[in-house]
Amino acid sequence: MSVEAVRPVVLCTLPLPAPAPTMLGERAAVRVLGRIPATEELVAELGAGDVEVLCPQLNDPVTAAVLDAGGERLRGVCTYAVGYNNIDIAAATARGVVVANTPGVLTDATADCALGLLLAAARRLREGDALLRAGGFTGWEPDVLLGLDLRDALLGVVGFGRIGQGLARRALACGMRVAYAARASVVVESDLAGRVEAMPFHDLVESCDVLSLHVPLTDSTRHLVDAAVLARMKSTAILVNTARGPVVDEAALVSALRAGQIAGAGLDVYEDEPRTAPGLIDCPTAVLAPHLGSATVRTRAAMAELCASNALAVLDGRLPPHCVNPEAWTGRPG
Ligand code: NAP
Repeated sequence: MSVEAVRPVVLCTLPLPAPAPTMLGERAAVRVLGRIPATEELVAELGAGDVEVLCPQLNDPVTAAVLDAGGERLRGVCTYAVGYNNIDIAAATARGVVVANTPGVLTDATADCALGLLLAAARRLREGDALLRAGGFTGWEPDVLLGLDLRDALLGVVGFGRIGQGLARRALACGMRVAYAARASVVVESDLAGRVEAMPFHDLVESCDVLSLHVPLTDSTRHLVDAAVLARMKSTAILVNTARGPVVDEAALVSALRAGQIAGAGLDVYEDEPRTAPGLIDCPTAVLAPHLGSATVRTRAAMAELCASNALAVLDGRLPPHCVNPEAWTGRPG
């Protein structure tokens, strides 16, 4: 048997950037699928029974059936993302499969992206860009594309974790006031203490000028922003979503934007990526990014390094540094 044949197999659905290929390649045989697979395709890939660690991307469906296809050999799922709503954590835990993610290293890049969407929507930069490219810029005018002043405007942050607090810092630097809706477990970093205010979700929705979403996608956050919530927002308000698409009822958002129920939206994520809800791309007040939250060279490299470190730990029989279900580890053979 060749040495290569006994190396553990790591399956990546899409190629990971440097330094992950080198880090993993020194220890394992790395197989790259090269596309975003459907469930059946992932089941078939894992069905060979030789994969020890799966490194999926954020839209790959890691279901119970996929985990079952991996069989006894599959020991870890190390996602190249901080969000892990695409992975059935309970099913993984029940099968002794550890799941690990890449928190922290993408906080600043994603908060920057949220701020960019906030600014672009508030100052109507996308509409201005379109106007100019269409030849509609005929000279400075006093009343063209007037937007929202950030100074003293209230930013409402929903989900006050790493990225939510990162956006809060940026907004405070722009002169905004910041309030947040969070769960009891929230830990407000010391530099923000006394500068931000906790508020019940519905009060925040009604009083904020910008509502920005930073919760994970879970059963309790799916369609957190629906038609009823959109109806309670100010007609001058802006919605920003860099969390996960299904946190917003996208069809209801299209209706609200069309009706002028809210003034605009800045979106990085969509309910059924890469598709967008019918009518969304025709909404002039929506600024739309193709899931770019963590898309900087340095951030993606840092995510790749964390992802590879998690995978190597699994291969070495160690608990991965960023394990989201450490209880799956208990009782495992080393
Ligand atoms: P985080 O530090 O865990 O923050 C999420 C916060 O939301 C936590 O404080 C959590 O509280 C809170 N939360 C959960 N459910 C809630 C609810 N129903 N109401 C209010 N708060 C709730 O995570 P993060 O690193 O900031 O990332 C947040 C999310 O952003 C990720 O899950 C991911 O989906 C998304 N993201 C998107 C991009 C992108 O490219 N657009 C990039 C990175 C991350 P507990 O701790 O009590 O659960």
